[in-house]
Amino acid sequence: MMLLRRFEIHQPTSVAEAVQMLAHFGEDASFYAGGTELLLAMKHDVLRYKHLIDVKVVSGLDSIELRDGILRIGATATHRSVERSPLIRSHLPVFVDMEQRVANVRVRNTGTLGGNLCFADPHSDPATLLLALGASVVAEGPRGRREIPMEDFITDAYETSLGTDEVLTGIQVPAATPQQRAAYVKFQVHERPMLGLALVLETSDNGESFRDARVAVGCVSPRALRSAEAESLLTGSRSAVEGNLLRAADALADSAELMDDPEGSAEYKRNLIQTFLRRAFQKAVGQP
Ligand SMILES: Cc1cc2nc3c(=O)[nH]c(=O)nc-3n(C[C@H](O)[C@H](O)[C@H](O)COP(=O)(O)OP(=O)(O)OC[C@H]3O[C@@H](n4cnc5c(N)ncnc54)[C@H](O)[C@@H]3O)c2cc1C
Repeated sequence: MMLLRRFEIHQPTSVAEAVQMLAHFGEDASFYAGGTELLLAMKHDVLRYKHLIDVKVVSGLDSIELRDGILRIGATATHRSVERSPLIRSHLPVFVDMEQRVANVRVRNTGTLGGNLCFADPHSDPATLLLALGASVVAEGPRGRREIPMEDFITDAYETSLGTDEVLTGIQVPAATPQQRAAYVKFQVHERPMLGLALVLETSDNGESFRDARVAVGCVSPRALRSAEAESLLTGSRSAVEGNLLRAADALADSAELMDDPEGSAEYKRNLIQTFLRRAFQKAVGQP
């Protein structure tokens, strides 16, 4: 039987106090939000902490706001609160569409967006979409506050660039422009997705061409990745982009340096990327 070792929970009243607590307890401590990943890892004895600092009780850290065209989502906002947020629904519907399909409703009710990103599981849905949306995260620590672009936040499987003395306080995502056409698609057989693919296009005024494209693939490499070559192939007239979809998918697959593993062969994953990029394109531009 798996049993949790004894630990103490500490409840800071502010971000500054949470940071002080972490400095005080050092390596014996970790932040704790929904606990959906952390407590499981502690049960399996993969992680051991004597002190957990509960960031979910810090007031205001779960707020969702729109300021200066940027959606500001507090790190302890749960998947469920993001999914149900009228603000996000009207200003970034693709994010609601992705969140509705994360895990199951029990995990979404407890698990936080910040916890998902900090755990840096390669199978994270939000990490892939946030990368394509040009998001950044906000960290606070003894040296103050800093913003980290998503590109630089997740550095490897289960690794981030967050300092050992820092806490994640929020996620910043540009709200959709009227010209934005975006879609997140995924392939999932078991508990976690095997492929996540996000496509964000900016149409020109007549909607017949795309002046900017961002595409990211997740789950098939240690962290979600974009491909400049794929993005260039997805820019231009609509007919040219449609004709380039297969080449763009190959460029994306190349950037992910696919490998054979228990989830499938590299060739199988390449085929998935080809199929799902086409689906993402059709979903983004509103084709059935
Ligand atoms: C059955 C199951 C199915 C799942 N399916 C999916 C899926 O389909 N797609 C998907 O994307 N995810 C999936 N997940 C992952 C899920 O999204 C995460 O478990 C959840 O979001 C993690 O958030 P949490 O608040 O529970 O984090 P916790 O478990 O509390 O923490 C996770 C890690 O993040 C750190 N941490 C938490 N908050 C902060 C903070 N503010 N600052 C610094 N560090 C912090 C903790 O120290 C810990 O290391 C699944 C999980 C389960 C259990």
